[in-house]
Amino acid sequence: MSQNSIFLKIKSGEIPGKIVFEDDQCFAIEDINPQAPVHVLIIPNKEIAKVSDSEESDKKLLGHLLLVSKKIADKYNLNDNYRLVINNGADAGQSVFHIHVHLLGGRGLTWPPG
Ligand code: 5GP
Repeated sequence: MSQNSIFLKIKSGEIPGKIVFEDDQCFAIEDINPQAPVHVLIIPNKEIAKVSDSEESDKKLLGHLLLVSKKIADKYNLNDNYRLVINNGADAGQSVFHIHVHLLGGRGLTWPPG
């Protein structure tokens, strides 16, 4: 597996990007092509390609990403109304193969996804 996903390059400053949160396990950036007024990606420092590649030992880390998503939603004043999305695999729309949680909010969201 590559050790330098585009997200890690943003984290290291190698390529530009707006980092909005960082802790010892993960970081978050604003999406370059936002699908809602708030569109943030929460990304673990560990470069796991996709959820289906994760292991039992990643349990705490994966849970941590959801709790950080909640913190970021509060920071953007989303008032407990937002969507969290994880695309798994190319056929499901995943284009960057480093696990990330999409946090979308700031507008009404429909279902099926829209
Ligand atoms: P996926 O399709 O893998 O679920 O989501 C990848 C997301 O990464 C997309 O929403 C895309 O807009 C975003 N993205 C791709 N390249 C960059 C980049 O260079 N910078 C930022 N900030 N976001 C990116």
